[in-house]
Amino acid sequence: MANCDDILQAVENVLADAERPALLHAPTLAGNCAAYTAQCVDTAWVSTAGAFVTRFEDMLCEITGAQHAVAIVNGTCALHLALHAAGVGPGDEVLCPTLSFVATANAIAHNHATPHFIDSDTLTMGLCPDALAQRLAAVTAREDDGTLINRETGRRIAALVPMHAFGHPCRIDVIAQVAEVYGLPVIEDAAESLGSFYSGTHTGCFGRAGVVSFNGNKIVTCGGGGAILTDDDALADRLKHLSTTAKRPHPYEYVHDAVGYNYRLPNLNAALGCGQLEYIDALLNAKRKLAMRYRDAFAQIDGVAWQDEPAGARSNFWLNAVVLDESRADQRDPLLQALADRKIQARPVWRPLHQLPIYEGAPRGPLPVAESLGRRVINLPSSAHLSPGFDPTATGR
Ligand SMILES: *Cc1c(COP(=O)(O)O)cnc(C)c1O
Repeated sequence: MANCDDILQAVENVLADAERPALLHAPTLAGNCAAYTAQCVDTAWVSTAGAFVTRFEDMLCEITGAQHAVAIVNGTCALHLALHAAGVGPGDEVLCPTLSFVATANAIAHNHATPHFIDSDTLTMGLCPDALAQRLAAVTAREDDGTLINRETGRRIAALVPMHAFGHPCRIDVIAQVAEVYGLPVIEDAAESLGSFYSGTHTGCFGRAGVVSFNGNKIVTCGGGGAILTDDDALADRLKHLSTTAKRPHPYEYVHDAVGYNYRLPNLNAALGCGQLEYIDALLNAKRKLAMRYRDAFAQIDGVAWQDEPAGARSNFWLNAVVLDESRADQRDPLLQALADRKIQARPVWRPLHQLPIYEGAPRGPLPVAESLGRRVINLPSSAHLSPGFDPTATGR
């Protein structure tokens, strides 16, 4: 077995005082989480109407600076709906990174469109703007009516979905510029990056719309949940309308003017989210502190690099990631096993999506960086409560 004792020791040092098992990411449900959810139960306002949904949206606007936040049942449905509202439909292609959680591509497929995979950036682990620009230059053409098509497949390229991996902002400013040149709407997958900023702007606020997730493993959880951020008033209205069965407002008539969705976040879930958003600053501080411990622990180790926040970015440090050098790539699985034996939950990065049988036929550019990262990245336990001295309610918002 390859010797990965130095890495094991570094992780043990960071987690010296932490309980076992040390999970990859467990939520912190403190403050008013219990009181707010109990309030839903006591008043029977547990479903898709209720004051916590609006409060949750208002709090998200305050935290992100977005003009509108539309609360949705989960991040996947939020992506599906945001793409649908951006005009993505059957037969279209949508550009996205191959190195992402499967939901990014699934949301495209749910619109009966096809993901078109682009390579990643070593610096950020997100979509690479250079690979994007090269791919667009290589395969696109304009039809007479101005439609952007992939010359190789004949299909329309309808949108672009960059993703902020592990909470680290990708080079979204350059990506947005490239998209602008081609007239492509940008829907950001900011599922992992609530609390992450790039050049002072919150992730998810660079394109036409952005999506955040409140799944159980994210920095803030609603049990399940998501939201679409946008500055576009008309789009926000349409998203809310489509997410609530497209019912026309009326005291008693059932008139639906589109094939809508039942995607609204229930009040019960929003209540849990509101409880945590009240101390999101404390969560972000604790996660940054834990991240700095990982940074220091890995600084002296050869052949492995801890993923820092990119230049110009402020990351939420959702999941700490380390990248093994190519020379140590064969140590990944022994390391994962050794960590599991110590009750330390670690995970390899997602398998690049074009390597999944469901997406192996999808169009794609060259993907050398994503394939390489796919063999070498490991995520380490990153829950806020693993940070020594963490008290979620000591510094409330
Ligand atoms: C979590 C996640 C999603 C999906 O969010 P859900 O709320 O779990 O549906 C989408 N994209 C990425 C990158 C994610 O990490």
